[in-house]
Amino acid sequence: MLNGKKISGHCEPNDFSVSDLVKEIGDNHIGTASDTPLRSDAFVLSNEQKKKKIEGLFSQILETLGLDLTDNSLRGTPQRVAKMYVEEIFCGLDPNQKPNVTLFDNNFQYNQMVVEKDITVFSHCEHHFVPIYGKAHIGYISSGKVIGLSKLNRLVDYYARRPQVQERLTMQIGHALQQVLGTENVALIIDAKHLCVASRGIRDTQSSTVTSFYGGRFVNSTIKEEFLRYSGMPTVH
Ligand SMILES: [Zn+2]
Repeated sequence: MLNGKKISGHCEPNDFSVSDLVKEIGDNHIGTASDTPLRSDAFVLSNEQKKKKIEGLFSQILETLGLDLTDNSLRGTPQRVAKMYVEEIFCGLDPNQKPNVTLFDNNFQYNQMVVEKDITVFSHCEHHFVPIYGKAHIGYISSGKVIGLSKLNRLVDYYARRPQVQERLTMQIGHALQQVLGTENVALIIDAKHLCVASRGIRDTQSSTVTSFYGGRFVNSTIKEEFLRYSGMPTVH
């Protein structure tokens, strides 16, 4: 199957062991180039406490802008924004949300490339907190196991639901794919529009940004071009 599957609007809780959590946010992980710059006290507050705090702080932003929070339309906005931040668009900051990935035996001995293309990417630029949206194309060559394809969407979604820069998002998904698939042979392209470029600043609504990750056999130009062809991306030749 090549088309991206629909993904749920909310992150759903997943089982996640404490050791995995430490691996995800431990000292060794924070601060390397491809890691989200999380503070060590990132999870001291509960989600409920975070929502309450953000609600209050967002009220202050609206009030500072001169808006009347007794207005019926605006009254619930701080609460809505807080819920959206914590439960939806930034819930991928929480390692508990990392999807469980189950691999299946590759009984049919398929040893060619698998490509899932046009996976929806919705993220947010960490510099302006406005959306980045586009498509991800993933390719891998099986190490003897196959993955449920919807898990690819869920992994993309997990890393996208953070304040991001597209380069880091690409690296995080690429490395996570290598880890869960048990192979270096992973390729990923993200082609995305940034609303901070489209709706403000230079106001360019046409440009998109392409980033890529190639591991293992995908470094080989013939294999890379096969992947680009399947993905519908232009190749060099
Ligand atoms: Zn931006």
